[in-house]
Amino acid sequence: MTAQLIDGTALSKTLRADVATRAAALTARGHKPGLAVVLVGDNPASEVYVRNKVKACQDNGLHSVFDRFPATLSEAELLAHIDALNHDPKIHGILVQLPLPAHIDSHKVIEAIAPEKDVDGFHVANAGALLTGKPLFRPCTPYGVMKMFEAHGIALKGANAVVIGRSNIVGKPMALLLLEAGATVTICHSKTRDLAAHTRQADVVVAAVGRRNVLTADMVKPGATVIDVGMNRDEAGKLCGDVDFAGVREVAAYITPVPGGVGPMTITMLLVNTIEAAERAGRD
Ligand code: NAP
Repeated sequence: MTAQLIDGTALSKTLRADVATRAAALTARGHKPGLAVVLVGDNPASEVYVRNKVKACQDNGLHSVFDRFPATLSEAELLAHIDALNHDPKIHGILVQLPLPAHIDSHKVIEAIAPEKDVDGFHVANAGALLTGKPLFRPCTPYGVMKMFEAHGIALKGANAVVIGRSNIVGKPMALLLLEAGATVTICHSKTRDLAAHTRQADVVVAAVGRRNVLTADMVKPGATVIDVGMNRDEAGKLCGDVDFAGVREVAAYITPVPGGVGPMTITMLLVNTIEAAERAGRD
């Protein structure tokens, strides 16, 4: 069996068309949706992510502000800037690109974002709302993965799902969304004793580790759905995921490529969350 590709670029295109329609409707009512992206320092990877996010806003009719600060910015100055964005009526979503320089406490910074503008969904109020089943924002990467399941009619109710990785931004919210959808969820991580024993039982595997070849063909149940969140570089410097794509695609029923899988969906769901925030603000 050769797995069917879940094409994140194609699905993003459809979803972004809907974003553009909703952005135009909001703009026509005088509520142009706005996203502020804050970057501190000059991490080259962060710079690429931020530029892609700002461009996606511009391409789909959202107002965007790119606030760039040197690595020497103090924590107090960053907190003051976030406070100003919290009170800016043109801004409906605030994204602080992580990681922040070591002298800034990222937890403190995320907690300073008004929960109703926290389009990443990382604020404890939003994490708690997700945990208790009433999310205001779903974190963008796992939300994008859920849209991929939906688009391909992949059944989650009663399915065995394994999430590899337990970070606050991907693994944990991914597990919660799968749980909400009725899957039986196992979360694996670096201390898991026998990863393959778990993944071989899984109808759905989501790999969010940041290490190449964490999931190989012998670890996958025939017919499973495999989602690769990882972003790594191979020996040639080419972008690749956590999954041994060539091997696993011969066993799985569905698989996401890297690039062109989860990556574009993450940015798309950031736009969706910003639109939702602007629609909510427009109703108030
Ligand atoms: P992270 O915070 O470093 O978390 C990685 C997780 O993987 C941790 O929970 C860690 O376990 C676990 N892990 C490490 N080695 C393992 C192993 N050998 N077996 C099983 N689990 C292992 O990373 P993250 O922020 O969640 O990101 C994960 C990956 O996704 C990265 O490559 C990142 O670049 C990528 N990413 C992609 C997108 C996208 O849009 N495509 C978005 C976000 C992140 P412990 O907790 O025990 O240390």
